[in-house]
Amino acid sequence: KKKIAIMTSGGDSPGMNGVVRACVRMAIHLGCDAYCIYEGYEGLVRGGDLIRKMEWQDVRGWLSEGGTLIGTARCKAFFERSGRLAAARNLVAHGIDAVIICGGDGSLTGADRFRAEWPSLLKELEQNGDFTAAQLEPYRHLNIVGLVGSIDNDLSGTDATIGCYSALARVCQSIDLIEATAYSHSRAFVVEVMGRHCGWLALMAGVATGADFIFIPEKPRADNWREEMCNVIEHHRKLGKRKTIVILAEGAIDREGNKITPEMVRDLLADPKGLGLDTRITTLGHVQRGGTAVAYDRMLATLQGVEAVKAVLEAIPDTPTWVITINENKIVRKPLMEAVQATKKVAQAIERQDWDEAMALRDTEFSE
Ligand code: ADP
Repeated sequence: KKKIAIMTSGGDSPGMNGVVRACVRMAIHLGCDAYCIYEGYEGLVRGGDLIRKMEWQDVRGWLSEGGTLIGTARCKAFFERSGRLAAARNLVAHGIDAVIICGGDGSLTGADRFRAEWPSLLKELEQNGDFTAAQLEPYRHLNIVGLVGSIDNDLSGTDATIGCYSALARVCQSIDLIEATAYSHSRAFVVEVMGRHCGWLALMAGVATGADFIFIPEKPRADNWREEMCNVIEHHRKLGKRKTIVILAEGAIDREGNKITPEMVRDLLADPKGLGLDTRITTLGHVQRGGTAVAYDRMLATLQGVEAVKAVLEAIPDTPTWVITINENKIVRKPLMEAVQATKKVAQAIERQDWDEAMALRDTEFSE
C-alpha cells in the first residue's frame, strides 16, 4: 500500500486545512495510507509522533478552518544536510516515499533540494548502517509535489495562491469598517497591508475598496509622489469625497529604494500647510492571515489537493518536481523550480530597482 504524507510549512494561510483534508481523503479514496507531518519540516526532522497516520474522519470540518491545524514552523535544521538526513531516515522508517508540501517559495525550494538529494541521503543511511540496501530498495525514488499556500499571492506562474483571496477579503472588510469612521469624521486613513516583495494584496484591496492612492514595491511612484498623492486626494476632496484611504504594502519603497512608511504618508496628509487632514494609521497585521477561508480558497485547496495526490502517484524519477498551479481557471502541474526561480527574479528586479522588469514579471493586468 502506497503511503502518502502531507505537510504544511512556512507562513500559515487560510485554505491550508482544506489542502490537508483533500489530500488525506483523496489518498484514502485511491487506496493509499495518508499521513500528516506535524509542525512543517520540524516534524520531518524530529519524526516520532509528529508523523501520524490519518483517517477519513480525522479531517472532518477542516475545510473552512483558518491557519493550519497540523502546525507549521520555520525549521533551521532542514537547511543543514544532517537535518535532511534525519528527515530521510524518518520517512523510510514510516514507509513513506511520497510527500505533498503546502507552503511558500522557501518551503518549496527546500522540498526540491530534498528530492534532488534523496539518492545520496539513502546512500548515507546505508553507509551509517541505519538500513540495509534491501530495506532501502522500495524507497529509491522520493516523489514530492508542492502546493502554494501564501496570503501574498507572491508565487510566479500561478494566478492565485491558496489563502490570498481570504486575506484580500479580510483586508477589504477591515477597510470597510474603517471607512465608517473616515466618512463620519471626514478623516484620512493610511492602511498598511502585508506584502514585502509583492503588492498584490495592496493593489487589489485598493481596487476593491476604491482607495485614493496605493503604494506597492514593484512599481514605486515617480520622485514627485508627494505632490502627486496630495493632488489626487485634493481633487477627490473637491469632488465631495469625505473619506480618504491610502493603502501601503509593507514593502512600499520610493525610486531610490528607500522605505515609504505609513508615518511619512500620515505626516504629509496631516501637514497644516498642505491638506491638513485628520489622519490616522491602521496597520492590519496578522488579522489578514486569520479567520475562515473564503469560498475561492476552499475550492482551490480542494481541487489542487486532489491534483497533488494524482501527481505524486504519477511522478516518475526523471520528471521535475511539480507544483500545482491555477492558470486561467485550470488546475495545472508546472515544474516547481521554474516557478520559484521566476519568483526570485521579481525580488531581484526590485532590489536592482529595475521597475519595468519587476512589473513585467508580475504579469498582472493592473500594471498601469
Ligand atoms: P515560506 O515557505 O513561507 O516561503 P520560509 O522561507 O520561512 O517560508 O521557509 C520555510 C521553511 O522551509 C524553512 O524554515 C526551512 O525549514 C525550509 N527551507 C526554506 N528554504 C530552504 C532551503 N533553501 N533549503 C532547505 N530548506 C529550506
